[in-house]
Amino acid sequence: MLDARKRRIAENEARFREINDRLDHDVRTVATEPGEMVDFVCECGKLDCALTVSLTLDEYRHVRDDDRLFAVLPGHEIGDAEDVISRGERFFVVRKHAEAAPIVSAQGPTDRSGDSPGANLPGRAPSD
Ligand SMILES: [Zn+2]
Repeated sequence: MLDARKRRIAENEARFREINDRLDHDVRTVATEPGEMVDFVCECGKLDCALTVSLTLDEYRHVRDDDRLFAVLPGHEIGDAEDVISRGERFFVVRKHAEAAPIVSAQGPTDRSGDSPGANLPGRAPSD
């Protein structure tokens, strides 16, 4: 059961994800060096956060591979809504709790060829 606050957090993160997907798409159309940093929008759930987080495209895509993973600035994690699964100097990777999965997954990218609907339903065996 999602309370209103957690729902808002999840919706906020899904919105940032949309922005970053467009950014990722735009960046791909210009030449970037391997390992070159791109300023993505911090994907944390703080409504007033407008900061950027520097990731390489590889790092971003690794996070993006899982609908429930988000890249946030260190300290921007929200303990009761997500788990920190990796702590780097530039960014943390957080995983949304399963209760928020329907929200963040529903707004995923449209170019997920090969991904069957429902692949991210709770109960799926973790791939890692
Ligand atoms: Zn943030």
